[in-house]
Order: sequence, then structure tokens, then C-alpha cells
Amino acid sequence: MKLDATDLRYVTPDEFRVLTAVEMGSKNHEVVPTVLIAQISGLRNGGVNKLIGSLAKRNLVSKVQNSKYDGYRLTYGGYDYLAMRALSKRDSMHSVGNQIGVGKESDIYIVADADGSELVLKLHRLGRISFRAIKEKRDYLGKRKSASWMYMSRLAAQKEWAFMKVLHEHGFPVPRPVDQARHCILMELIDAYPLRQISEVPSPGNLYSTLMDLIVRFAHAGLIHGDFNEFNILIRRETGEPVVIDFPQMVSTSHENAEWYFNRDVECIRTFFRRRFRYESALYPRFKSIMNEEGIATGDFRLDVMVSASGFKQKDMKTLEEYMEAVKEEEPGESSHESEESGSEESESSDSDVDDTDEQKPPVEEPPSSESEAEHDDDQFSEPS
Ligand code: ADP
Ligand code: MG
Repeated sequence: MKLDATDLRYVTPDEFRVLTAVEMGSKNHEVVPTVLIAQISGLRNGGVNKLIGSLAKRNLVSKVQNSKYDGYRLTYGGYDYLAMRALSKRDSMHSVGNQIGVGKESDIYIVADADGSELVLKLHRLGRISFRAIKEKRDYLGKRKSASWMYMSRLAAQKEWAFMKVLHEHGFPVPRPVDQARHCILMELIDAYPLRQISEVPSPGNLYSTLMDLIVRFAHAGLIHGDFNEFNILIRRETGEPVVIDFPQMVSTSHENAEWYFNRDVECIRTFFRRRFRYESALYPRFKSIMNEEGIATGDFRLDVMVSASGFKQKDMKTLEEYMEAVKEEEPGESSHESEESGSEESESSDSDVDDTDEQKPPVEEPPSSESEAEHDDDQFSEPS
């Protein structure tokens, strides 16, 4: 999606009031009736129509003809605008540059602050895929149903922000978080390539240990990344050091499927190193040896606890998690074995795939639904020698 920076300047104060009214109205209306928009904005009906028309022309709202009434919905563009306006009002962000990433559930742009320094803007886009089907299946959204994509995208951004903050404050190699508004996060731009695009490293063994140590450090602090793969590990251009990104799916080590998530992160790295660098080690971390006898993280600080205390509520975490699980159920035809079998390095370009599509992402499997499966999962790991 194109982010039009010029819109940041050309929305008038009255248009802004109307846009905000549409946002507010969509908290409990899937289609916000025009009269309600007029009411919330405190502007007269006639005036409102013209303002809405001009917002619709710029695709910030879209008209929906309902069987009962006509009204408007906020578009992604409208929500983007509101978030970017908030960021620029706070002087965190000044202008928008190129898009550097399109994920299934986010868009990534290079932006600049007032001094012209480059930053990364991540716009969360939950609900872009088959939200309708999910909505029908799940009722956890309750009254929120109508604003679901906005709500879920905002939750993802808030969660990512909360985690990035505590991780950064505790010296983990993650981008410096700069600001957050609605479904957006502003962060430091890392001068790096995703590990996915790297065909050679000076010492695969060293990088492998660094990454496994990082998984262990996370776990000591009570956290599991949950998507620790070659797309979410950036390798600094200058130093070759890894930086970890993408936190909306992080889980606590006290999560019921913690060990499963932990093993999956470890396996992602092992598989990638085997295929890409032909590097295999008998050494890899095991969840049980990191946790104490009660299965509790043993580090000096517990970041999972800090995040809960930081205002990102357990309830929101649960809502987001259920959403993410529901989305995965909706994704057809992603099979690990397919990529396993065709996983020759020749088929992977190493430096031209900036716009990697998600088809190439590691497959997402379901976490175990029962204790016995979790036990079984453990069997596949041998003792390190
Ligand atoms: P998604 O949730 O869509 O996977 P990510 O946070 O993983 O989003 O970002 C997608 C891509 O954008 C990354 O693989 C990376 O190439 C780029 N990217 C994201 N954040 C940064 C950053 N702070 N600095 C540099 N590149 C980044
Ligand atoms: Mg990612």
C-alpha cells in the first residue's frame, strides 16, 4: 500500500475532526452512519457530507451502502494517516520514504525524523487475510467485532512495542524503539541484511552459537521469541552481529506450550544452518536445562513479568494469541515438507530478494493441544554430546 506523505499536510482541521469521528464511531459500528459522524464531529450535517466526500476521494474513508443505512468505514489508509499524524505531531517522524518490506501482516517503511535521520516505521496489518472467516469462528472479539482489524493491528503494535522496550532496556540486540501510535511502531533503522539473504558468513559456528546463546538469554529472562528465523534476524553490515526483530508473537516461558515454542525456535536455526551453511552441531539448548525444577526462568530479571506490569495486559496478550492461532488455521497449503524436499540452495537467490514473499517463510505448525504431544515432541532432541 502506498503511504501518501502529502496527506500529512493536506488534511484540514475539519477533515481531521471528521476522520477522527469515523474512527470513534467504528468502535461499535462496522459501518458508521453519516448522522453519527456528524454528531461525533460536532459539525453540521451538510458540512460533514462535503468533508467526508473529500476524505473518501483520498481513500481515507470508504462509503458503504448498507441495506439499512449509508455510512462509512475507516480504511487502512485512514488509520495510517491518523497514526502518522500522531507521530508527526509528537515530532517523532517527519516524512515518509521508501517501502522496504511487505509482510502478510505488516508494511515496513523508511521514514525520517525532523533532523532527517532515518527510522523504520512498521505498520501492523492484522486482519488483511481472511478476517471474515476468523470472525465467524471466534467470538472472543465480543463487541469489538466491528473494529476488529484496527483493534487487532493496534494490539499487535502495542505488544511489539512493550517487548521491544524491555528487551532494549535490558541490553538485548533489538532495534531501539522510538515511538508507537495506534497500529504503528517507529524504531531505529538497522544497517543490516536479513540472515535469509546471506549466503556466506566468516564463521557459521560462531554465528550459530551467538544465536543459540540469544535464545537462551531470552529464556533466562522469561521469554521465547516464537518466530526466531532467518527473516527476523538481521545481520549488521559492518560487524556481522545479529539483531532480532519482530515481536508480536513472543510468549512467556510460563506459557503452557513454552517448551514447544522454544524447541521450534531452536529447530528453525538448526535447519537453516544445515541448509544454508551445511553447518550442524550436536550442541543446542534445551528448555528443561534452562528452567529450574519448577519450570521457572532463572535469570536475574523476568521480562515477561515486566511486560505484564508495563500496561500490556494479559487479556490483550490472550486475544492476540487466539487471533494468531486462528489465522494460522485459516492458512491453507503451507507444508514444511515441501520446502524441506526442494530446499536446495540453488533455488534460493542470496542477495536480490529484498521483497521476499511469505511463501518462503518457515511453515507454521500448530502448537500441541495436549500434554502427551508435548512430551513426544521432546523425544526428537538428543542429549548434547
Ligand atoms: P513482519 O511482521 O512482516 O515479518 P518484520 O518486523 O519482521 O515484519 O519486518 C519485515 C522486514 O523489514 C524484515 O525482514 C527486515 O528486512 C525489515 N526490517 C524490519 N525492521 C527493521 C529495522 N528496524 N531495520 C532494518 N530493517 C528492518
Ligand atoms: Mg518478520
